[in-house]
Amino acid sequence: MSIKRVLVTGGAGFLGSHLCDRLVQAGHDVVCVDNFFTSQKQNVAHLLARPNFELIRHDVTHPLFLEVDEIYNLACPAAPGHYQYNPIKTMKTSVLGAIHVLGMARRCRAKVLQASTSEVYGDPDVHPQPESYRGSVNPIGPRACYDEGKRAAETLFLDYHRMNRINIRVVRIFNTYGPRMHPFDGRVVSNFIRQALRGEDVTLFGDGSQTRSFCYVDDLVDGMMRMMGAPDTLVGPVNLGNPIEVTMRELAERIVEIVGSRSKLVYRPIPQDDPRRRCPDISLAKRELGWEPRTPLAEGLAKTIEYFRTIRFEDFRAPTPNY
Ligand code: NAD
Ligand code: UDP
Repeated sequence: MSIKRVLVTGGAGFLGSHLCDRLVQAGHDVVCVDNFFTSQKQNVAHLLARPNFELIRHDVTHPLFLEVDEIYNLACPAAPGHYQYNPIKTMKTSVLGAIHVLGMARRCRAKVLQASTSEVYGDPDVHPQPESYRGSVNPIGPRACYDEGKRAAETLFLDYHRMNRINIRVVRIFNTYGPRMHPFDGRVVSNFIRQALRGEDVTLFGDGSQTRSFCYVDDLVDGMMRMMGAPDTLVGPVNLGNPIEVTMRELAERIVEIVGSRSKLVYRPIPQDDPRRRCPDISLAKRELGWEPRTPLAEGLAKTIEYFRTIRFEDFRAPTPNY
C-alpha cells in the first residue's frame, strides 16, 4: 500500500471520526478539518497522539490551503434539527465547502469524494430509490437548505469533473447509525436510545408508520473507502445504505426491548416534509464495489446502545436546542 495524504472535512463528526480511525490504522497521513459545530474533540481525542494524524479547527466556508492526495468531504450538519438551526449557514457549508475542496483537488491533482445524501431524493415516490431517480424535493421547505445544498454540491462536483477533469466520487449515504452519534443530535436512533436509557417517553413523530433503512457505521465507512479506491471511471453517484426498511414504530419497540426499558411510546406531530418512505436500491454498489452491508440491525443497535451506556450525557454540549 502507498501512504497517501488524506484530508477528511467534518472528520471529528460521527462518520468522519470512524473514517479517520480506519485511515490512520491503514498508515495514511490524515488531516482532519472540523469547526466542531455538531461534534466535539472527544471523537478524535484518541488519535491526537498518533504521528500520522493532525487536527485543524477550521470552517470550510472559508478557503484552506493544504497539499493532499485524497479528500473526503463530509463537513455539513446532518441531523434535521441541526441543519435547520441556521439554514443559510447550512447551504453555505455545502456549496462553499464543495467549491473549496474542488479547488484544492484541482490545485493538488487530488481525488475528492463527496458525502451526498438520500435527501437528494426528497420525499420519494419511487421505491426503492435507484441513482437514476431524480427525486421529489420541496425547494422552499424547511429541509431545503440541506437537500438543495447537497444537490448543488453534486452539481458542482460533476461540473468540475466535466470542465476540469477533476477526479471525483459521489456517494449518496442513507441513514447511518452507530457509536459516536451525538446524544443530542435529535436523530431518531440517538433520541430513542437516550430516551430508553433514561426511562423517558420515546417520541414517535406522526403515527410511526414512516420508514427508514439503517446502515451500521462500519459498513458505511467500508463502502466510502471502496468508492475512493474504485476505478476512476466510477464517479457515481452511488447509493450506500442498508436496503432493509423498518417503520419508526418497529425501531422504537426494538430499542426499548434491547435496552430493557420501561419507557412508553408517545406520539408527537410529524415535522413538515418528513419523507414517508426511504430505502436504497444498492444494485450499483453491489455490482461495481462488491459492497453490501453486513451488520444486522439487532447487532448494530446493541453496539450503539453499549456505547451510549458508557458515555455521560452531561459531558456533551447540545449543538442546538433542536433535539
Ligand atoms: P456529524 O454532524 O456528526 O458530522 C458533520 C461534521 O461536520 C461535524 O463534525 C461538524 O462539526 C462538521 N461541520 C459542520 N459544518 C462545518 C463547517 N462549516 N466547517 C467545518 N466543519 C463543519 O454528521 P455525520 O452523520 O457524521 O455526517 C457526515 C456527513 O455525511 C455529512 O456531510 C452528512 O450530510 C453526510 N450524511 C450522513 C448521513 C448519516 O446518516 N449519518 C446520511 C447522509 C449523509
Ligand atoms: N423521528 C421520530 N422521533 C424522534 C426523531 C425522529 O419519530 O424523536 C422520525 C422522523 O420524523 C423521521 C425518522 O424518525 O421520520 C428519521 O428521522 P431522523 O431525524 O433520524 O432522520 P431523517 O431520515 O428524517 O433525516
